[in-house]
Amino acid sequence: MFQRRKASSTATTTSTPPPPPPQKKKESVEYEFGGPLGALATTVTLPLVVVVLGVACDGEYCVGLDAIAGLFPHLAETRLVGARAFCIVIGWIGFQAVLQLLLPGRRALGAKLATGDRLEYLLNGHLAFWVSLLAVSQMPLAGLYDDFPELAVAACFVSIFLAVCLYAASFRRPTPLLAQPGTTGSPLYDFFMGRELNPRIGPLDLKCFCELRPGLIGWLVLDLGCCAKRRQLRGSVGLPLALVTLFQGLYVWDALYFEKSILTTMDITTDGFGLMLAFGDLAWVPFTYSLQARFLVDHDANISTLLLLAILALQFGGYFVFRGANSQKDLFRSDFRRAEQRGIRWIETASGRKLIISGFWGAARKINYTGDWLMSLAWCLLTGFNSPIPYFYCTYFAVLLVHRAMRDDHACARKYGDDWPKYKALVPYVFIPRLV
Ligand code: NDP
Repeated sequence: MFQRRKASSTATTTSTPPPPPPQKKKESVEYEFGGPLGALATTVTLPLVVVVLGVACDGEYCVGLDAIAGLFPHLAETRLVGARAFCIVIGWIGFQAVLQLLLPGRRALGAKLATGDRLEYLLNGHLAFWVSLLAVSQMPLAGLYDDFPELAVAACFVSIFLAVCLYAASFRRPTPLLAQPGTTGSPLYDFFMGRELNPRIGPLDLKCFCELRPGLIGWLVLDLGCCAKRRQLRGSVGLPLALVTLFQGLYVWDALYFEKSILTTMDITTDGFGLMLAFGDLAWVPFTYSLQARFLVDHDANISTLLLLAILALQFGGYFVFRGANSQKDLFRSDFRRAEQRGIRWIETASGRKLIISGFWGAARKINYTGDWLMSLAWCLLTGFNSPIPYFYCTYFAVLLVHRAMRDDHACARKYGDDWPKYKALVPYVFIPRLV
């Protein structure tokens, strides 16, 4: 169970090296993402998607069938690789690492590891967010829009290089703590899923850092670059782009303000740090999530007042559900007594852990995902209805969240055994109360 302990009791994975997990027999391996072939296909395809989407939303493109027909010639004439872009991406990651290491912040302990240890994390993400914004406010950001394809390519290469280093480093001696999903013995699959659970360079926890800092804050900076570009081209930012930037800025700020929550997520407690997370954090999130802003630089959305009101309702309704549910679970896991005083009801499980069955978590088992998705829809609707391309985000996000809900359901079924079906009978809906 998640308990508060003195922050001074720092644990490191190297102090008590755990034995490597036993190699599983081939037939008992449980693969996700389509196994090694799926991992290979994803590794090859997703960087292409990042680059194609970046180029597809460039200037005149992004609208209508002509743009789709002209995409490949346009791709061929777009400059995709440049040393400057690599310097910007690596410099940005380095700058974020310096902020992570040097800024003050409180310390928190992560979830209990298989060894019984709990790692210590320095939480200064909120301060890093504001320092980063202050730093970039002094820079000519419109160039980020112009260099977008090159920056996207550089981020893809950097994340793949990082994943290769992480994979190689996970074989060092003494063996670090490995992640169960990434230790199947299939090199390709393990490279994709990530072998090592919590790789660190000194005090820098690489997975936690990449999850929250360069890509997430970089996403907002790319949005700000789009605002600067539109102001340069049109003289003003315009309401749709201003709202997209504001709403996505709120999302990024929220992740960093509630930084501690990441310590109990599946990404940190269960998944290893491999290509999936390195690429997702450093390339996919900033360069595909900023697509709506990129689209709005060159296109007008023409949003009616009625649609605007619907968008505001989706954004703030979604945020209310997303934040409310995540905070309820955080409180429950970190300060059970206070959660109980607030009337949260729960069931006890044989594992000793409790599961909430009231409030947001009593309404639907993954209602936090629903809130998140409603916000993604609001951001896409702000681009109007001229092109399907900016709707890539909410479409992809729906697939991600459904798949993630299935992965988590599977993980919880293993974790909670017979208690999990009992919990599901008490909270029968997954995403929408009384519907799904
Ligand atoms: P959850 O926050 O839903 O965490 C899942 C874990 O919560 C389970 O493994 C279980 O772990 C615990 N849990 C499940 N049900 C209950 C319950 N009834 N009572 C108490 N604990 C419960 O999932 P994620 O970590 O995937 O996501 C966190 C947030 O991040 C979500 O809002 C999601 O939308 C967002 N997200 C955003 C992404 C993006 O790209 N923008 C990507 C992925 C996630 P245990 O019992 O061990 O505590």
